[in-house]
Amino acid sequence: MTFQDLNLNTPLYNALDDLGFTTPTPIQEQAFNVVSSGKDVVGIAQTGTGKTFAYMLPILKQLKFSKQDNPRILILVPTRELVVQVVDEIEKLAKYINTRVLGVYGGTNINTQKQQVAQGLDILVATPGRLYDLAVSRVLQLRSIQKLVIDEVDVMLDLGFRHQLINIFDILPERRQNIMFSATMTQDVDELINDFFILPERVSIAVSGTPLENIQQERYSVPNFYTKVNLLNALLQDKERFNKVIIFVALKKMADRLFEALDQTFSEESCVIHSNKTQNYRLRSIEQFRNGDNRILVATDVMARGLDIDNVSHVINFDTPEFPENYIHRIGRTGRAERQGHAILFSTEKELDALKRIEQLMQMDIPLNDFPEEVEVSNDLLEEERIKVKERNNPLKLKAEDIPGPAFHEKKAKNKKENLGGSYRREIAKKYKKPKTRGDKNANKKNKRRK
Ligand code: AMP
Repeated sequence: MTFQDLNLNTPLYNALDDLGFTTPTPIQEQAFNVVSSGKDVVGIAQTGTGKTFAYMLPILKQLKFSKQDNPRILILVPTRELVVQVVDEIEKLAKYINTRVLGVYGGTNINTQKQQVAQGLDILVATPGRLYDLAVSRVLQLRSIQKLVIDEVDVMLDLGFRHQLINIFDILPERRQNIMFSATMTQDVDELINDFFILPERVSIAVSGTPLENIQQERYSVPNFYTKVNLLNALLQDKERFNKVIIFVALKKMADRLFEALDQTFSEESCVIHSNKTQNYRLRSIEQFRNGDNRILVATDVMARGLDIDNVSHVINFDTPEFPENYIHRIGRTGRAERQGHAILFSTEKELDALKRIEQLMQMDIPLNDFPEEVEVSNDLLEEERIKVKERNNPLKLKAEDIPGPAFHEKKAKNKKENLGGSYRREIAKKYKKPKTRGDKNANKKNKRRK
């Protein structure tokens, strides 16, 4: 199948020619007619499969020129980086079409965005929070929205945007087409679909959770953080092979730590993104990585989901994701648009359960590599890696055999008496009266005499 079979129009063909794209990807092929039909659509496709164009091709084909100011197409994405990326993709595809595209996201001056909205637009790409703020401020009118696209729905729900999405549904016109894309089908996604969508058509190019076949996967068993750093350093020495590498870690703190550790050897070549970095820092990091200034990008899951960066040679999973879906998302950053990719996974013993879950989801085992002899195994441990030594003999806690059991015979009569202590003295004191003070012996004598 070629793009000619989709019956597009000249401006779109010209844009596709400029991009050098000749054949639609499977999701583009499958989604085209369904999206064109105007029905609600749920698409399951990983990032990197061409899903942005899968919804944009039919939308742009149908979008008529208009002078009205209010947007007609609304595209919601979970992160600011994705807003920038999707706007970029649309602009490439709409190069020869007279459409106004605007991207809005939080963390930047809302007034600037209000002015941009006020100038009029056709397609709005937004993160949910900022979209809502703009709508509430009334600068942005949503009554002309004909199509709502929610991209990366699973991430959106993972980030806790369900409530915000529902608020947005409330202020959108009821008669609209809903188009959703998700890399995985999760229970949350399923619930959202059942609650808010009317008999959506489903298009799916891969069973949820199946990794792209053109990613070569391998793994290493590594005992701890610092040994992982050593192994990583050794691998990254091969600059030719490892020419564009994303290293994933689950936590921001770890991302910073790893970035610092790498900085000693690869300071000119590495950058980092996570949600505690400023917007400008994040965009700069991605740009530097995308254009090749930096060879190595350290990223957390949330930040890098959905990022489309060409020619990523390797994805290195510095830790083993707890949720197998995250692994699928991570490795989907390499081997994009049908190019060969490589994914490497590091697992400690503690992470073996997570590895099992990943292998179960993929229904395949990830081949294990021998740990390279030349890489030093470190005995240094991070605070959180140190096993807390449990006190074996807790003096405060008696063992079962030490706990006194019930007495097995009755006490003898004399032992039953309550011991009040010093009975002899008490008897004497009763007899002679206790001297009030030591020097008061005379008082006792006087008492005696009175008797
Ligand atoms: P996406 O899944 O939308 O993030 O797209 C992944 C990458 O594939 C993007 O860089 C697109 O520009 C590219 N792409 C989209 N459609 C095609 C196509 N038909 N042929 C080749 N590359 C494509």
